[in-house]
Amino acid sequence: MKRTILSAAALLLFLTACGQSADDPARDTVRTADVFAMDTYMNLKAYGSHADEALQAAQERIAGLEQMLSVTNSGSEVYAINHANGKPISVSPETAAILETAHQVRMESNGALCISLYPLLKAWGFTTDSLQVPSDETIAAELRRADDDQIRLIDGELTLPEGMEIDLGALAKGYTGDAVIEEMRKCGVTSAIISLGGNVQALGGKPEGDALEPWSVGITNPFAPDTNFGIVQVQDQAVVTSGNYERFFKDDDGNLYWHILDPEDGRPADNGLVSVTVIGSSGLRCDALSTALFVEGTERAEEHWRAAGDFEMVLVTSDAKVLVSEGIADAFTSTSDLPYEVLHYDENA
Ligand code: AMP
Ligand code: MG
Repeated sequence: MKRTILSAAALLLFLTACGQSADDPARDTVRTADVFAMDTYMNLKAYGSHADEALQAAQERIAGLEQMLSVTNSGSEVYAINHANGKPISVSPETAAILETAHQVRMESNGALCISLYPLLKAWGFTTDSLQVPSDETIAAELRRADDDQIRLIDGELTLPEGMEIDLGALAKGYTGDAVIEEMRKCGVTSAIISLGGNVQALGGKPEGDALEPWSVGITNPFAPDTNFGIVQVQDQAVVTSGNYERFFKDDDGNLYWHILDPEDGRPADNGLVSVTVIGSSGLRCDALSTALFVEGTERAEEHWRAAGDFEMVLVTSDAKVLVSEGIADAFTSTSDLPYEVLHYDENA
């Protein structure tokens, strides 16, 4: 009798939410899934005997989060927030977590991250297909409606001033990456890699025979987006890129406009960077940071990295230089002829 109780307890310890054992020796099983969601082509790859149910759970989670976080779908939580007309609205723990990270990174970046730019993004046409340069008056007027400092979130109740609208596009995929990795882990998967557009996230290492190796993640060359300029090797980390090549248009004079706006002037952020990759443990935080650092520009991004101490980064400047932060330098390999240098913790090194 005693033995039965003991083994039942032991079994419970190893059972996960998918009802599977966490011990997973069948690493040679690999399953992949291609998903189009959140306006992005996503690719999921899981190893081991629980890969199938993990991919199923992951896809359900992505669909649920898309339904919740979409700014355009009239059934979404963000849509309800944007149409609350100044009244408080109760939000899910997911949305609350995203809003808290947005607030945190906004503080760290002196306002570079601004989720209430949505009306201005609409004026530029970045949320629709009618891309255009708005008039100076329109930019000034829509910018006046943006002010994240007026967003109130107290005990899961969110209040926006009337006329304000938010868009979580800068962080939603990062949150989704964390959630997908969590679903896979719950199913007993210990090795997986997912790519949600510019967001790559690794669970564990890559099985190679009996050993585990780091995953190699390519970083897109912003000057030739169908090639990589380098790779980083990671395990259990998120690698999140914001780049000016991801969504842009040209006017009749050939000027380029892209989708990351500077809250200072309401125009595409042009502060010396064309691509920012952030490497760290949380997809949500890395995603918020990649957008914020892009807006901050080269010098402020460097200061931000030194002050925070919990992430690494690879920057590409508008004059085609690659800057790799010290903590990831050993794991970075250049695969292009773009010149690169290492940013040191000690500025005088
Ligand atoms: P990401 O690709 O993560 O850098 O996110 C870019 C998306 O964030 C854009 O497509 C917009 O929806 C939104 N966005 C643009 N500029 C900002 C900004 N300064 N702060 C927050 N969100 C922004
Ligand atoms: Mg981002």
